[in-house]
Amino acid sequence: MRTHTCLECGAVLKHYDFVSRSVRTQNRNSNIVKIERFKCPVCKHIHRVLPDDLYPYKQYSAEIINGVLDGSITSDTLEYEDYPCEATMHRWLNEFH
Ligand SMILES: [Zn+2]
Repeated sequence: MRTHTCLECGAVLKHYDFVSRSVRTQNRNSNIVKIERFKCPVCKHIHRVLPDDLYPYKQYSAEIINGVLDGSITSDTLEYEDYPCEATMHRWLNEFH
């Protein structure tokens, strides 16, 4: 089992609960993923731990984010009707490059 440390104070986090979240994938599908939350015993912050295949970008899947970053998905890519808006894609490109 992995241990997670608090980003605020460095203490080892304790399991708190699970929350469900809808993650958008291509073709307007969405997956429900379970996200485990941890609570810091020292500073009481609640931290979410994302599954490894998710970037911390809310409702978009890693597959779509990677497509944007490598240029295979743009606002003209029709098969991705749910593509992120231009501003979101620009933000990803700025942050990852
Ligand atoms: Zn803490």
